[in-house]
Amino acid sequence: MKKVLQLSLTKTLVFILTGLMLFCVVQSCKKDTEETECSTPIEPFNHQVSFNYEYDISGMNDTMRDNVLTADIVLFHSDDMAMTWNTLKAEFLRADNAFRTVGVQLNLKKAVNVTFPAEWNNQLAYNLLDLPDSAVNPAFYDMYNTTKPTLTDTIKIAFKDFTYDEENKARTIFVLPLKGVKIVFAQQNPDSTWKVSNPVATGALSFPTYILQNRIPRNYRGIITMEQSSAVTLAHELGHKLINVSHEGLNISPAFSGSSIPGLMGYGGSTTIYGGQSGRWHQERLLLSPFLYKMNSGTRTYNPDYSGNGSYNDAIYGSYVMAGNF
Ligand SMILES: [Zn+2]
Repeated sequence: MKKVLQLSLTKTLVFILTGLMLFCVVQSCKKDTEETECSTPIEPFNHQVSFNYEYDISGMNDTMRDNVLTADIVLFHSDDMAMTWNTLKAEFLRADNAFRTVGVQLNLKKAVNVTFPAEWNNQLAYNLLDLPDSAVNPAFYDMYNTTKPTLTDTIKIAFKDFTYDEENKARTIFVLPLKGVKIVFAQQNPDSTWKVSNPVATGALSFPTYILQNRIPRNYRGIITMEQSSAVTLAHELGHKLINVSHEGLNISPAFSGSSIPGLMGYGGSTTIYGGQSGRWHQERLLLSPFLYKMNSGTRTYNPDYSGNGSYNDAIYGSYVMAGNF
């Protein structure tokens, strides 16, 4: 009997205490909602990337000018890469030089030595969600409206981890040292049906919005993966990202491979960025990139964001789109 009474007393006490606690939680939430949303405790993010140390980048941003279109860049470098930090640094300076000739300067925010899980290497960048119907041949850039390339889970995990603590993610370019990143594309069979190609490894990949459109989360749209250097690899990948085009240039239509393409968007080692219609509007498109801003008396003004989903013919490009999306 005594035991039962004690038990019910304990129960009542627990009940009252729980009620009091609930009341407190509700009250503190009410207080918060006057200004912000009721806040839930933030769990610390458990990084799988180790951010080992920052490289000395003094002297790399000495010539930044006000009122010039600027792209913010963060470089991550790993000792496992085929290129040294000095090689990546030279890639950055060469790219900066190439873009400055057409009015865009690159601002290196920081460069960090990292280590990360080996299982993030040799991954497929994205899957295709669909294929064109048999005998249908979409225009080059329209193909991505059909195939809908969409990031794989492992790539998303890696992208989240590398950029988790960064500011202004959607407007910053991040270079990640992932190796063996592979892509797939739609390939036509002799009987005119379509299939998904075998995976093809890339030395660098820019994850541009003309391919991924709004299927890449805004905060990841500035990411480029790069494991090796050809001296102009970073400049070329920045071209994909900032001009938002494939391998094309100087009256040559876009192609899967850049082997026979002149200028920055080919594989020939050139960093020339052509303009005008014969240059397929590359200079003009570059200057409209939503990643670019101008600094004026301490105020930073970004270009307008994509008007639609960031496709090749997004409305921000106005007439700087080749007819038929070829
Ligand atoms: Zn390319």
